[in-house]
Amino acid sequence: MYTEILPIDEKSLRLAKKIIDGGGAVAFPTETVYGLGANAFDNKAVEDIFKIKGRPNDNPLIVHVHKDYDLTGLVSDIPEYAKALAKTYLPGPLTMVFKSSGRVCSSVSCGLDTLAVRVPSHSGAQQFLKCLDLPIAAPSANVSKHVSPVTAEHVYADLKGRIELILDGGKCSGGIESTVLDCTGKKPQILRSGLITREMIEKVAGSCDEYVLKEGERVLSPGMKYKHYSPSCRTMLFSFCDKNKAVEEYNKNRAQNVNAYILCDEITAESINVNHILNLGKTGEQIASNLYEKLREGERCAELIIAIAPEKQDGVMKGVMNRLIKACGN
Ligand code: AMP
Ligand code: MG
Repeated sequence: MYTEILPIDEKSLRLAKKIIDGGGAVAFPTETVYGLGANAFDNKAVEDIFKIKGRPNDNPLIVHVHKDYDLTGLVSDIPEYAKALAKTYLPGPLTMVFKSSGRVCSSVSCGLDTLAVRVPSHSGAQQFLKCLDLPIAAPSANVSKHVSPVTAEHVYADLKGRIELILDGGKCSGGIESTVLDCTGKKPQILRSGLITREMIEKVAGSCDEYVLKEGERVLSPGMKYKHYSPSCRTMLFSFCDKNKAVEEYNKNRAQNVNAYILCDEITAESINVNHILNLGKTGEQIASNLYEKLREGERCAELIIAIAPEKQDGVMKGVMNRLIKACGN
């Protein structure tokens, strides 16, 4: 199959619609990462998404809709706090989990009675979703467990020959996947952290819980149990207070002719004497936005990525740390 990368315009959207209506999948940009979308009403199209990515079939997908789509047909029991959150943060990088009304095919939710929905704010995503006017089931447009794609070229590198069309909307600004919030209880519960932080949720919803996977317990967010976001080269992860050990490890590997790179934020980069650095930037937002691009750059140029966690780990950094541990931790 020949894979085309096209800018988003009338012609490419017409082609995208033809592919989706024919039961195929199209990659499209969002403000978080690129998604691989298929018609959520079409069971075969959704099953194909799992096959294309090699995604485990117990890891449910998020349904994406345009901003004027009526969600009440897809989900039920929407609590007041969720309405307030939607009013404040949607369109945006917040996925909400509700009771499913059962209209979307069951393979989207992998048999769960809930459905995760999201309204992306990226203008290209909105154009794509508006022209289809369908709920689009979309995981990230990468091979399962690899680093998520934040450019059309990243999607192409992973899915070339497996899909017909990649809509190119440039680099995704957010850089890490959406916050996933369980809205089926009395209070919201964060299942996956992201750019909409706990503080932002509490400001609107009063209070919220955060889900921690405990051994032996039923998994609430199946995706969280998998190793994810991994570059193809060797990786190591050091905490900020062990940054000197990370530099020792770098020097030891370089002395043995191993092409090692340090992945760290700008403040750490300025405090160490190292020539080969993958610099993530300064603020939490910059670090989130650059993380996957730097991991992909790292796997192209390095044999070993030695990551040093940033010192500050609140707000957006919580989501970054979650990805960094899954990408580079043991
Ligand atoms: P991805 O599409 O790779 O960004 O992953 C989607 C994330 O949303 C995974 O962590 C899933 O476990 C989570 N998710 C999707 N649907 C549900 C659902 N119905 N209930 C709980 N978590 C969900
Ligand atoms: Mg993913």
